[in-house]
Amino acid sequence: MEIVCPIDAELGTEISALLTPPSPADVEEYLNELIQSSSRQCNGITVKQNGELGKGVYADSDLKEGELLLKDQMLVGLQHSSNKIDCLVCSFCFRFVGSVELQIGRRLYLQELGVSAGRDCCEADYSAEDEDLDDSGPSSSIYKEKVPLPKGIVESLMNGGLKLPYSDKFSLPPAVPCPGGCKEAYYCSKQCAESDWDLSHSLLCTGERSEAISREALVEFIQHANDTNDIFLLAAKAVSSTILKYRKLKVAYSEDREKTPNVAGSPHLSLLLKAWKPISVGHKRRWWDCIALPFDVEPSDEAAFRMQIRELAFTSLELLKAAIFDEECKPIFSLEIYGHIIAMFELNNLDLVVASPVEDYFLYIDDLPNPEKKEVEGITRPFLDALGDDYSVCCQGTAFYPLQSCMNHSCSPNAKAFKREEDRDGQATIIALKPISKGEEVTISYVDEDLPYEERRALLADYGFKCRCPKCLEEGPKLCD
Ligand SMILES: [Zn+2]
Ligand SMILES: [Zn+2]
Ligand SMILES: [Zn+2]
Repeated sequence: MEIVCPIDAELGTEISALLTPPSPADVEEYLNELIQSSSRQCNGITVKQNGELGKGVYADSDLKEGELLLKDQMLVGLQHSSNKIDCLVCSFCFRFVGSVELQIGRRLYLQELGVSAGRDCCEADYSAEDEDLDDSGPSSSIYKEKVPLPKGIVESLMNGGLKLPYSDKFSLPPAVPCPGGCKEAYYCSKQCAESDWDLSHSLLCTGERSEAISREALVEFIQHANDTNDIFLLAAKAVSSTILKYRKLKVAYSEDREKTPNVAGSPHLSLLLKAWKPISVGHKRRWWDCIALPFDVEPSDEAAFRMQIRELAFTSLELLKAAIFDEECKPIFSLEIYGHIIAMFELNNLDLVVASPVEDYFLYIDDLPNPEKKEVEGITRPFLDALGDDYSVCCQGTAFYPLQSCMNHSCSPNAKAFKREEDRDGQATIIALKPISKGEEVTISYVDEDLPYEERRALLADYGFKCRCPKCLEEGPKLCD
């Protein structure tokens, strides 16, 4: 599936320039710039390029157990479409917004409309210490029938007419609507709204102030992604942010040129490469080439399956092109590049998880001492019964974290992605699991490290490697197989 395009040799050259991996020194420089940037909290770590193993994160000083190593800001991220029914979060930082009442009311309102939510569970990353409520508490582990509330009550929850006891202990920032008028994106602050607008949303907003060339096409693109794979929405954010970055660099370049008219050559490709840099550091292969074959696909159907995936990407890209195409960024809209962007997210994506204040709220009520608890529960119980097991659904999505994605795997890792009580947004938080000495590599586990050797090996094969960590060498076959 080589891309052959004799008519447009220049386009071909530009595409291969974008796909040429940046030099190890370039990568190191870029990532260490991220470490130093003020928007990230990094503690005693550095990124090094290590020939055979590729890049890795290393301790720059002695680190203590439990110490925060990194809060990594995502390059792009999204809340899963199915999760939008459950949680209203900031479209930029993924903090919960509004109020506990709004979160509950909105959930019940959509539930009544018959919008069904994805019922994925989110225990994976967040709740190592899952506080289970005791059996007398609001949720026993048996799935309970939901008991609907009258419409009037749901409405007054949503419009602020009804206040639940102790909800002020879980106050949230007010929901700021998207300045583009799409009524889809909400933010925790004007600052998040502006940052998202500048980063990617101005081209991807379906509201009247959108800068897309066709809002109708954009709606179609989003619909297609929601119906097939929402990773396309993440890819669109990457495409949009590259275009917007390119436009900014171009403005800065022309201003510079006015001051010093002697700058030579066509700046076009070098500006595009600069805008593309955050992605160039992460991509490796094409999506349809590297996607793991699902269990229900026979090996003999592999070629057909890969062709189907490629066609799916093609359809998505055509819709995106109709919505936001930019002639100067033409190579970004080639199927080749689009395939690489999607694969980068598929291979390096990390779960974005933010704990729900609604769950915290009901846990708090459950923990109240009696007789107060009895009294308060008299008020809150109907809301819990209406939510059923959905009371604890957290914000779930996918994001690409540039520094965390550099951390290599080990089945006996010395660090872990773990959200603490105070981590209330979509940033990745990495904590030291044991003391790490200066110069040692920081590792995390990509899979559940407590699984038996064979299961770990099978899961890690999806990431395209065979683990050689001390634990695997110890537990695995002793001969070189
Ligand atoms: Zn925010
Ligand atoms: Zn918008
Ligand atoms: Zn291992």
